[in-house]
Amino acid sequence: MVNHIAVIGSGTMGRGVAYTAALAGFSVTLQDIRLEAIEQAKSYIDRQLDKSVKKGYIRAEQRDAARNHLSYTTQMHEAVAKTDLVIEAVLEMMELKINIFQQLDEWAPSHAILATNTSTMSPTEIAASTKRPGQCVAMHFFNPAHRMKLIEIIRGLDTSDETVEVVKQVAEKMGKETVEVNEFPGFVTSRMNCLIGNEAMNMLMEGVASAEDIDKALKLGLNHPMGPLELADLVGLDSRLRNMEYLYHHLGEKYRPSPLLVKYVKARRLGKKSGQGFYSYTI
Ligand code: NAD
Repeated sequence: MVNHIAVIGSGTMGRGVAYTAALAGFSVTLQDIRLEAIEQAKSYIDRQLDKSVKKGYIRAEQRDAARNHLSYTTQMHEAVAKTDLVIEAVLEMMELKINIFQQLDEWAPSHAILATNTSTMSPTEIAASTKRPGQCVAMHFFNPAHRMKLIEIIRGLDTSDETVEVVKQVAEKMGKETVEVNEFPGFVTSRMNCLIGNEAMNMLMEGVASAEDIDKALKLGLNHPMGPLELADLVGLDSRLRNMEYLYHHLGEKYRPSPLLVKYVKARRLGKKSGQGFYSYTI
């Protein structure tokens, strides 16, 4: 049974997953290697909890309980020492994830499940760096984690049925729906979404339409809740570029990152988090 969840990496996804898990009643420790990232995540979560009370989404007692459920640290061994489930949400880089999983395998209790929130990468390859591949799995949350209904669950080659069952129960307690996917680069959602976003970027580069009109066309003409360019800004253009590079490497030409995406990342236009992407934001 899962009581405690350790979330590794407190960026866009990690802080959202920690917030969601704490509200669902899990005891949560959020860890990041950078103190600044942890401080930003704590203030984001505090603001988000207050906002949710003001808007009537949650009661003040739920907010207070969630705050009591949360702790923060920069020390990984401290975060995972007594955990039942780790959810890793560090940058989309295979070497980094492998390195983190090796440490997690060493420090987390032997019963703990190790999950990755990777958007595209192989849970089998990540799990192979541990001595517990049966207890490794991918739990792919969506952004913003507290609002999006789905968690895509990806089985690696050795992921046990019991591990899948436990993470499904955790997802259910968080109020999420799940789909179970067999491992393949990009799973279902990222494989599809990256193509749509990349095509939108290429159209913008080719002068087919403005960013606003591309997004409006997809929203009003094809009934997408968000335009592909505003969604890429929300995801973070650096994260999206890493996703595209991985898919390009594994699936070929169809996934070659749009030159416009590459150029924006070089310019440090990273989307909403940097204040400038396809649109401008106040941060
Ligand atoms: P991010 O850049 O916002 O955050 C990553 C965090 O990891 C940073 O705070 C960084 O300091 C931290 N980190 C780096 N090295 C670390 C280490 N050794 N130990 C602990 N923390 C470390 O990235 P993100 O957008 O939150 O993406 C995280 C993961 O979630 C990626 O695998 C990404 O593909 C996936 N994902 C992202 C989205 C999205 O919309 N951004 C959606 C679903 C899944």
